[in-house]
Amino acid sequence: MSNPDKYATAVVIDRRDLCDDLWVVRLRTDCELPFRPGQYATLGLELNGKVVERPYSIVSAPEETDVEIFIELVPEGALTSHLYRLGTGDEILVRRKTKGLFLRNTPVDGQAHLFVATVTGIAPFVSFLRRLAARWRAGEWSTEQRITLLQGASRSYEFGYLDEMRAMAAEVPWFEYVPTVSRPWEDPEWRGETGRVEDVLRKYADAAGIAPGSGAVYLCGHPGMIATGRAIMRRRGLNDDSEIFEEQYWPDTKAAS
Ligand SMILES: Cc1cc2nc3c(=O)[nH]c(=O)nc-3n(C[C@H](O)[C@H](O)[C@H](O)COP(=O)(O)OP(=O)(O)OC[C@H]3O[C@@H](n4cnc5c(N)ncnc54)[C@H](O)[C@@H]3O)c2cc1C
Repeated sequence: MSNPDKYATAVVIDRRDLCDDLWVVRLRTDCELPFRPGQYATLGLELNGKVVERPYSIVSAPEETDVEIFIELVPEGALTSHLYRLGTGDEILVRRKTKGLFLRNTPVDGQAHLFVATVTGIAPFVSFLRRLAARWRAGEWSTEQRITLLQGASRSYEFGYLDEMRAMAAEVPWFEYVPTVSRPWEDPEWRGETGRVEDVLRKYADAAGIAPGSGAVYLCGHPGMIATGRAIMRRRGLNDDSEIFEEQYWPDTKAAS
């Protein structure tokens, strides 16, 4: 039995499949789950008498009733292979404490921000942007600076928040969304940016005005993208500790290029 002091129960109340290895779930927990944008929830399942758990960045904004998570299936993965089978009405364990320091001091007044994500790595940025847009609509926050979100995927159907991010970019003056597809030959209808995030990073960092002292870069998701992105931004002169931030989803097995 899982420890009820440590874990709450969450029911899957909605599931949206993007393709055969990417899906979005909305979870309703049986208790409050306080968090700030950028933090992660720890989801688990009891398997063979043991709780198998993993961290997942929260997509929803703190004001929303339900917790939204964007998940990629890892073939043979200890947890995702089981999470994948769950549908509406099924239950998941959620640690009562959310964690994480990503985006904790963001946005910084007077700085341009470049958010960079691979596929599910968009999660913390969506949470952050939903809250910021709500504050902007309510007249509680405004900025002269821009926030650019660059998201990479192999094919466009992997962009889980394409419509929402495009609509937000059309609505608010301070936000730009740039999705880029690395396998355009498998996606002939795609009319947007092409190449891997790393290929177009310099171009959008220039356009966003990312420079030492006046800009910050936030990298989330694939470890290879993060290592390369950090190396590019270091060469640009950004401070490793105060101008480049990251949330890496799994361990890096290769050195930075
Ligand atoms: C702070 C944080 C936030 C995270 N947020 C998310 C999120 O929002 N959505 C999400 O899908 N995942 C997220 N992850 C990754 C997640 O925690 C799990 O690692 C992932 O779901 C795989 O779990 P598993 O038990 O199925 O695979 P495991 O059995 O743990 O892993 C098997 C192997 O796959 C590697 N691996 C893990 N994830 C991937 C991947 N996506 N692609 C390729 N290889 C991988 C692992 O390094 C390991 O070698 C996050 C990780 C961290 C640290």
